[in-house]
Amino acid sequence: MCFGPIDVQYDYAAIKRDLTKEKIAMRKPNLWRYLELLPISDKKNIVDLQPGFTPLKKAGNLARELGLRAIYLKDDTVNPSYSFKDRPAAVAVSKACEFGLSAVGCASTGNLAGATAAHAAKAALPCYIFIPKGLEESKVLSSEVYGAQLVEVDGTYDDANRVANLMANKYKWGLVNINLRPYYTEGSKTLAYEIAEQLGWSLPDRIIIPMGSGALLCSIHKGLGELNLLGWAKGKVKLCGSQPIGCAPISNAYATGGDIIPVETPASLVRSLAIGDPASGAEALKYIRETGGFADAPDDKEVIEGQKLLARTEGIFAEPAGGVAIATLKRRAASGEIGRDETVVVLITGNGLKTPEVLYGQFKKKVRAKASLEDVEKKLKLQD
Ligand SMILES: *Cc1c(COP(=O)(O)O)cnc(C)c1O
Repeated sequence: MCFGPIDVQYDYAAIKRDLTKEKIAMRKPNLWRYLELLPISDKKNIVDLQPGFTPLKKAGNLARELGLRAIYLKDDTVNPSYSFKDRPAAVAVSKACEFGLSAVGCASTGNLAGATAAHAAKAALPCYIFIPKGLEESKVLSSEVYGAQLVEVDGTYDDANRVANLMANKYKWGLVNINLRPYYTEGSKTLAYEIAEQLGWSLPDRIIIPMGSGALLCSIHKGLGELNLLGWAKGKVKLCGSQPIGCAPISNAYATGGDIIPVETPASLVRSLAIGDPASGAEALKYIRETGGFADAPDDKEVIEGQKLLARTEGIFAEPAGGVAIATLKRRAASGEIGRDETVVVLITGNGLKTPEVLYGQFKKKVRAKASLEDVEKKLKLQD
């Protein structure tokens, strides 16, 4: 089933004439401030959980530790369902309402599940979610809570995606990452707009992006292209992708200079990025090469270290995908590929509280003490 164009088109000349930076600045701080650049025809169809316009935080402590100067974190852990996936889900579920569909859903590695379920709840639509086996328990719970019907498919994400597709065709459901995919990818563009706006309508030298299917990286590329086209923020940005080494089909292809070879059995604790056969992989690879970026693949240990480093230096608890991006920042700063004076934005795409289990046992044990000053001092070894 196909609901619309493969790629959404806009009348940029009209947008440039009618929409100004000043107008945008006066609107509410969420992604609907860029409505003219989103594929929703009628405002009344918007399913509004107010996602987006998340903080862009200058990361002084982290930069200092890595020997860099201008690191910014785009903190999408604070979206309504705690990941950047609220952006694509907001646009796709709103579009499903515009089409008058009777049910929505998705295939998901975890975060899209929560985002779609939350938006379906707000839209009062039934929601069917297909997930692979072995997702983190708290992530599954954070979709179920919104009243969605989950289907755990006996297999990988690619298997879940395949069966979701069959169900969508038969029952005419709008699945946000399948038959609503052109609208889904539009939602993530808003990250590029926000980064530019929050940097005073300028662009960074580089953006580090965790990759699963590669869709997020492609959306950032589209958003940056539109900013240039509209004349709102000019410049070339190196797009740098990162995948966990246990499931890195895009990064492997970058390293070999060849085509993408799907990974049959993903083996990584970074479940949100465990997509063996990435739907937007070839396109993402093309943009990485064209912009002069790179693709990287840290291992699980580096990912955990990345999560801990981010939390310890900047007070942000990210899920493993955030650890992937930070691990890459660290590796490529150490190798000198990221220059000391570059302005780098790192996308922190999901919240660590959804996947606490990956960090169990990682920290020094708490001390146990009686409720007395003396005992606490003793246990903390604070007496002279
Ligand atoms: C989905 C997701 C990504 C990016 O995935 P793409 O499929 O490449 O768009 C990054 N981080 C997190 C936490 C995600 O859930």
